[in-house]
Amino acid sequence: MRIGIDIDGVVSDSYRAWVRELNQHFGTNILELKNYDLSVDFGVSWEEMGKFFEENVAYLFEIPEPMSGAKEGIERLLNKGHEITYVTARSVDQKEYTLNWMKKHKIPHEEILFTGLQSKVDYVLEWELEVMLEDYLGNAQEISEAGVPVLLLDASYNKGELPSGIIRCHDWQEVVKIIKNGSLN
Ligand SMILES: [Mg+2]
Repeated sequence: MRIGIDIDGVVSDSYRAWVRELNQHFGTNILELKNYDLSVDFGVSWEEMGKFFEENVAYLFEIPEPMSGAKEGIERLLNKGHEITYVTARSVDQKEYTLNWMKKHKIPHEEILFTGLQSKVDYVLEWELEVMLEDYLGNAQEISEAGVPVLLLDASYNKGELPSGIIRCHDWQEVVKIIKNGSLN
């Protein structure tokens, strides 16, 4: 099966690391993100949040640990003969940081698509991905509406009812199990 996998919040435990850094920077004490858009929870403008990321980009992409079970899950899927394409909203300028991080944590990778501000849907369709693993509900909805099933990795910022076509997974073990059983619909 051709599997698409998002990076931040799915392979890289980015938000945990970023929330820690942002708390330090803004003097806040946010423990759990309620919104995918960090500027909302931290009560700052989108521009201010963007500036913080721009100024610290190398560090912020280096520090996250992998999500629990991600490396093992990816290895198991590859061993079963599945093809993995990463689809990330990071920009192509962030390719080097991303590759270095993957290497550092020994995460198997071949193709990584950097969509930047473009919709992920076009990439998912063009690359004929048969399922997408995501943590952002907005992307999950768009991809699912385009006819591609989505596995949504559970997070504090993606709670709520899901439409058919999106399956909530609580951890990587569940992701692997669902793909293995072929129970996507
Ligand atoms: Mg993500």
